[in-house]
Amino acid sequence: MAAVTAAQPRSSKTESYVDNKRKEDIRQANIKAARAVADAVRTSLGPKGMDKMISTANGEVIITNDGATILNKMEVLQPAAKMLVDLSKSQDSAAGDGTTTVVVIAGALLKQCLLLLTNGIHPTVISDSLHKASTKAVDVLTAMAVPLEISDRESLIKSASTSLNSKVVSQYSTLLAPLAVDSVLSVVDPAKPDMVDLRDIKIVKKLGGTVDDTELVKGLVFDKKASHAAGGPTRMENAKIAVIQFQISPPKTDIEQSIVVSDYTQMDRILKEERNYILGMIKKIKATGCNVLLIQKSILRDAVTDLSLHYLAKAKIMVIKDVEREDIEFITKTLNCLPIANIEHFRAEKLGHADLVEEVSLGDGKIVKVTGIKDMGRTTTVLIRGSNQLVIDEAERSLHDALCVVRCLVSKRFLIAGGGAPEIELSRQLGAWSKVLHGMEGYCVRSFAEALEVIPYTLAENAGLNRIAIVTELRNRHAQGEINAGINVRKGQITNILEENVVQPLLVSTSAITLATECVRMILKIDDIVNVRDSTMVSTAKYLLSSRILYGGFFLNFLLCLFVFFSKLCFLVNNETIHMQHAHLAIQALL
Ligand code: ADP
Ligand code: MG
Repeated sequence: MAAVTAAQPRSSKTESYVDNKRKEDIRQANIKAARAVADAVRTSLGPKGMDKMISTANGEVIITNDGATILNKMEVLQPAAKMLVDLSKSQDSAAGDGTTTVVVIAGALLKQCLLLLTNGIHPTVISDSLHKASTKAVDVLTAMAVPLEISDRESLIKSASTSLNSKVVSQYSTLLAPLAVDSVLSVVDPAKPDMVDLRDIKIVKKLGGTVDDTELVKGLVFDKKASHAAGGPTRMENAKIAVIQFQISPPKTDIEQSIVVSDYTQMDRILKEERNYILGMIKKIKATGCNVLLIQKSILRDAVTDLSLHYLAKAKIMVIKDVEREDIEFITKTLNCLPIANIEHFRAEKLGHADLVEEVSLGDGKIVKVTGIKDMGRTTTVLIRGSNQLVIDEAERSLHDALCVVRCLVSKRFLIAGGGAPEIELSRQLGAWSKVLHGMEGYCVRSFAEALEVIPYTLAENAGLNRIAIVTELRNRHAQGEINAGINVRKGQITNILEENVVQPLLVSTSAITLATECVRMILKIDDIVNVRDSTMVSTAKYLLSSRILYGGFFLNFLLCLFVFFSKLCFLVNNETIHMQHAHLAIQALL
């Protein structure tokens, strides 16, 4: 990247900036640390980018190309470098894709900022100019974007494929892209056409087969088998399904206690009572016509016992137990039924209906599928398959990116070319704009424009092309008015990238630029790192607490109470004693 070397004549003396050494050092250290993070993920950008193998402390290995995942797993200690990790996370939640791009752009901006700072420009001037440049950049991108109709399935698939192309599982993009589009479109609510809640798409992972066997299931999939106890049914047609949150087991006392029964007749009575209790419950369930039970996992006592499973099997009721609490909402939404929290509320109108619930063998395990649901809610399940856990996990992350891309397009219906085309066009237009700005501002905007060239440079570099030759040609083609010319990494030349079907949502590009700029501005404005020690009050509180834990005793308890009372008093008298408040809160939390 052409560095800004010759300082432009400054318009007035007041704009030049002299800072003291320490502040400069802190700023430089922050920028260098943050750039190191950006450099670490740079090689992963684009379809020909490299993957990273991450080995965690507990021996787990992850192979990924996703910027957010790489950074998330990295052990970053420097506070400014951590900001870049958070930046990637913000992009992940704002757009879902472009998590590497945002960090690479931030790294390039920081490099330019360092040059501007060494040229004596005040950080505030740089920060304000960056803000101005990013606002202009968003305008330019919006003007470049092509509007999209949500019914245009082909274009949606193209952009999902672009996002999948750069992943480890790119060879399966022909399968995963349409799957992502169909699943997002099936959960769009016509009443709120631009809102997509990705929680309505459940991803179930099952080891075995290949990613090619991944399928979209219109219904529910449970990654567990049905209960086989006492030969209970494992397939049910015309299913009437109840989701229950109560236990079909004998009640327990509230407090832990044991009852000793020494008389055999008494014991017989207890067993009989238990049988009657459970039978009574099962009769109530059967009376509503229910023939499939989904039982929520219980921590207080067993949700089902061997005895209740036996009677349920006799009543020809299929049982799927240990359903997770957090899945209940998704299940009831899909089945269009109500969860039942008490046997007294067990009524036929609370049941869900499906054509078939069956246990299927898959690989070396079994799953339960519920299909043909009547009045099914707007949800979908994707069953991901793969030959090993690494592939399955990466397939899930990649599919998440593709789903996010389609979600972006549903909420903001504009497409933009990929392959470095938007960045180089931005760079060109902002470069031209910087010439009409005055003084330092123009100088900073020009640096911003140059920083954006990092994307085409990196795409070319990662694809093993001659970066200077490629980017120069790209710049020329854009200067001649071909705004959609981009780097075709497959052919190794510049082509109209829209014709190559490399498209991405506008939201991904705009949010990458605005978020990266915000983060860089924040780092620029830091001129000191302050380590805070505990105040005397907090230290005293900690000391008292640790002695109490060690020695216990009435006297220490008394002292602690006195301290709490005293700190509360101080807090009441003077609201600003923030240390006192901290000490007080710490004690309350620990007590
Ligand atoms: P991110 O995590 O930021 O999404 P990716 O590794 O997915 O990073 O790379 C995204 C970049 O790769 C985008 O700038 C996109 O335009 C570019 N890209 C994706 N597919 C292609 C392709 N087939 N040809 C050229 N560039 C591509
Ligand atoms: Mg991507």
